[in-house]
Amino acid sequence: MIARAGRAGVIQMVVTGSTLASTGRALELARTYPGTLFATAGVHPHHAGELSATSVAELAELARRPEVVAVGECGLDYFRNFAPHAAQQQAFHRQLELARQLGKPVFLHQRDAHADFTAILREHAPQWHGVAHCFTGGAAELAGYLELGLAIGITGWICDERRGSHLAALMPQVPAGRLLLETDAPYLLPRDLKPKPASRRNEPAYLPHIAAVVARARGEAPESLAHTSTAAARALFQLPHP
Ligand SMILES: [Zn+2]
Repeated sequence: MIARAGRAGVIQMVVTGSTLASTGRALELARTYPGTLFATAGVHPHHAGELSATSVAELAELARRPEVVAVGECGLDYFRNFAPHAAQQQAFHRQLELARQLGKPVFLHQRDAHADFTAILREHAPQWHGVAHCFTGGAAELAGYLELGLAIGITGWICDERRGSHLAALMPQVPAGRLLLETDAPYLLPRDLKPKPASRRNEPAYLPHIAAVVARARGEAPESLAHTSTAAARALFQLPHP
């Protein structure tokens, strides 16, 4: 998978931790492929229940590692509601506090919880280093995130003609230095890949396809977007040049 990504021109990748266990595995991958893979350390709102006062110390140990470039995936998800809102909010508070202590950016998830999400972010700090990962919202959400200082992560959601086409019109409003590209692999296989892959599993090698769709929406060349979004990712996550 890493070789296929490399052949597609994708040479550095951030592997998302979404539980304590998957954070451990992401860190293991980052140690195995230093300089190519990096990890985030966090507990997704779906799993907010696992972030107790004791396990937050475990998460802090993982997050402190140099291979970990961000705290998260953390945030709020009132769409699936796999964890009660109070538990989600508490886990989010704990991880924002951890990011502040470690001086690392945040990797943020939000679905159907915009008001509480931005209120909690503001409660901790007026401005944030971080990314609103897999942005799928509208113009008002986008403006709110940009005002908070966040970068905007765009996935193959924008390639989905059923639910992502509204994103194209918003793309010119994202400043070049704040636009990141992601696959969210293994999820969100772009729906318009041609030929259609045999497997539904998304992977980093498809990132250039997403770059092409976003570049078209912005009216710029894919090479130019590849350059600025790579620079933005390197700046946010403090990635070394390969
Ligand atoms: Zn997410």
